[in-house]
Amino acid sequence: MSQKRQMRSATLRAQPHRGRKKLFGGLKSAEQVHADVAFPVGARCQSCNGPRPVVRAITMCPLSDAIKQWPELQQLDPPTLFKRIVQIKENPADAMGAPYVRVSMVYSCKACAPALEKSLAKLPSWMIVEINRGPGPDKILVEVN
Ligand SMILES: [Zn+2]
Repeated sequence: MSQKRQMRSATLRAQPHRGRKKLFGGLKSAEQVHADVAFPVGARCQSCNGPRPVVRAITMCPLSDAIKQWPELQQLDPPTLFKRIVQIKENPADAMGAPYVRVSMVYSCKACAPALEKSLAKLPSWMIVEINRGPGPDKILVEVN
């Protein structure tokens, strides 16, 4: 390893929280900003009903399976049903995507998030789950002024 490269890796090791600085001049962490602005007013944790959600999970399933599982979906008026339909590309070659129905959207606080993820893992394989955990240690943080 070259001396320059050694110095660079030593610098990276000396800054364990590199990229995790606080925003707005040190007032709030990225996680706090995300919790403040990413969720609708009145969003509450599904499990403990706490007022500070930090995770959002959306479950979706193919339209055909949704109609089979929940025949009452056919009773919905078209605008309401269309609002819940999203196009999901099942593979990269898929140009149009397949229609999926948003079945549920739940929020979770930090304490209840592991239990939520455990319960989401038990869903049938034909369902898709989108989990938005917001900023985390694995994501690069850039503040744009
Ligand atoms: Zn909770």
